[in-house]
Amino acid sequence: MTEQGDVAAPLSTAPLGIFGGTFDPVHLGHLRLAEEAAEHLGLAGVRWIPAGRPAHRGPPSVAAASRLAMVRLAIAGNPRFSLDDAEVASTEPSYTVPTLERLRGEGAGEAAAERPLVLLVGADAFAGLPGWHDWQRLFELAHIAVAHRPGFPIDPGQLPQPLAEIFRERFSPSPATLASAPAGSIVSFAMTPLAISATQIRALLGEGRSARYLLPDSVLDYIRREHLYCRN
Ligand code: ATP
Repeated sequence: MTEQGDVAAPLSTAPLGIFGGTFDPVHLGHLRLAEEAAEHLGLAGVRWIPAGRPAHRGPPSVAAASRLAMVRLAIAGNPRFSLDDAEVASTEPSYTVPTLERLRGEGAGEAAAERPLVLLVGADAFAGLPGWHDWQRLFELAHIAVAHRPGFPIDPGQLPQPLAEIFRERFSPSPATLASAPAGSIVSFAMTPLAISATQIRALLGEGRSARYLLPDSVLDYIRREHLYCRN
């Protein structure tokens, strides 16, 4: 099920951004990535999809329902953003390919099949793509937009070999490519560099230190109220 922001998005065939993650917890790096992707890449909106049981990493520190609630708080009031709880609601491991297949099947036939979808990933997640389930099929279902992230250069020379080849074949220097086909290209975009990670925030909170200004106050208040990430 999808929750829209407080203004309904107009029907549009402009590219739709898809932003998956563990969001354990969601932070300002995630928010700026989605906001700047929407602006730089001309996206109609960004659909946030928290992973229920992320398949390619260890179990998250807090329950899926809490991570979903934190993303809901973080994106509240941004009309470009919507929240998709399908992966959180599922008991299956969260894989991106079936999620994209579901999104392709939504709506009215051809419109959904033809609409450009743009999977948003940070440079670290992009380098790990060959570890994802059925990863080569991703390019049949969506474009991929890679955000620069401090400490993770986007350099084909440093990518795993099968991904480096695909990067050279599919990379386009122009975001305009995204609107010209439903899927298949790779673009990159520079965002305000923010060396924030959920790992760092979990560590600070675990040590009883301040994580203020690394994530929205509303999310921090929720964390305090629910006693998340504290040592005991
Ligand atoms: P963790 O530290 O637990 O691994 P994380 O901060 O990397 O978490 P995720 O939920 O794993 O957050 O990331 C979701 C997506 O957001 C990934 O594609 C990741 O690369 C990207 N991302 C996270 N933080 C940043 C950041 N500061 N700058 C750019 N991209 C980011």
